[in-house]
Amino acid sequence: MAITKKLYENFSKTLIEEVHKWGGMKQTGVSLRYMLDFGSIPSDRNMIIAAQFLHKELPIRIARRAIELESLPYGLSEKPAVLKVRDWYLDSFRDLRSFPDIKDIKDERDFTQMIKLIKVRHNNVVPAMALGVQQLKKSLDPKLDYEDLDVIHRFLDRFYMSRIGIRMLIGQHVAVHDPNPPPNCIGIIHAKMSPAQVAKDASEDARSVCLREYGSAPEINIYGDPSFTFPYVPTHLHLMVFELVKNSLRAVQERYMDSDKVAPPIRIIVADGEEDVTIKVSDEGGGIARSGLPSIFTYLYSTAMNPLYERLELGEADMVTMAGYGYGLPISRLYARYFGGDLQIISMEGYGTDAYLHLSRLGDSQEPLP
Ligand code: ATP
Ligand code: MG
Repeated sequence: MAITKKLYENFSKTLIEEVHKWGGMKQTGVSLRYMLDFGSIPSDRNMIIAAQFLHKELPIRIARRAIELESLPYGLSEKPAVLKVRDWYLDSFRDLRSFPDIKDIKDERDFTQMIKLIKVRHNNVVPAMALGVQQLKKSLDPKLDYEDLDVIHRFLDRFYMSRIGIRMLIGQHVAVHDPNPPPNCIGIIHAKMSPAQVAKDASEDARSVCLREYGSAPEINIYGDPSFTFPYVPTHLHLMVFELVKNSLRAVQERYMDSDKVAPPIRIIVADGEEDVTIKVSDEGGGIARSGLPSIFTYLYSTAMNPLYERLELGEADMVTMAGYGYGLPISRLYARYFGGDLQIISMEGYGTDAYLHLSRLGDSQEPLP
């Protein structure tokens, strides 16, 4: 098999055998509450225990992904962008496995430095995979329905979910070493995060992208008590609200751009329930046709005409645009599900869309481990 040959070109046979051995081992999930409790006492002893856990857990998770990257359907595994991603996974696996046992705080510091670099190595996995999928899309029969590509879609869901988990574990471990953490922050978890405040920041960011792209942007009103807080990861929430608001801004903007009517504001409602905190992003941007709803959560669908992939190949992937990949919704839903929440889109065609972002308050749901 061509792919196996490629594997052996850059990596030793022993390494590949080890990947397969580790990929078959059981993964261990961690809950938000556990990370919060554990990270609140960053003693040397706890840091060593955490590092020892990661030293065993990360190679298991990474090996699983590397194996899956080898055996994707429709020739996706052979796409150059996907091969590159697979090499990043193998390099990281090798770095982790060649690191000796962690016995003292000196080892722990070195290990932390190493996993920090692993996180950086994998920074561009999402655009790289998107490029691979795009390369695949070009070579496929155009008559093929996106829903026929369900296998690929489910693979990407598992793959990105796992990536969220790996980056959470590394990000958290690295961040608890900060000698001067911001108030109420335990690593990247904020013990008293105000969802209304994060929603406000994310909306402003999305609005400025809209202003840049269209020259104007609809208003955004936020309803919810800014003093209400609960423990969560602000970067995750920021990302999700940013994506939802961008979608709403684009829909409203496109609908009202050429009309003489004033664009109706986007409304964000923050509700604090006992089980969930729910954030609703509501727009009057005309909604989505019912027939189109099944595809909005796939990684292969976007109505944006933005030739983002061409730019990707030119290395301009850092540029944030209003729409382009078709990744905003599926990725946001994974972030929500990672901590036990969910994302639902309800549309009224001819009127507008409501996005319901549910975040679990309890924080004790275990990580989903695909
Ligand atoms: P990006 O990856 O940049 O977010 P995108 O916005 O096209 O690209 P998604 O956010 O996943 O990708 O949305 C997928 C599609 O769903 C959009 O292209 C758009 O057609 C439709 N959509 C999403 N939200 C709305 C909305 N609020 N109103 C109308 N259509 C929407
Ligand atoms: Mg979007």
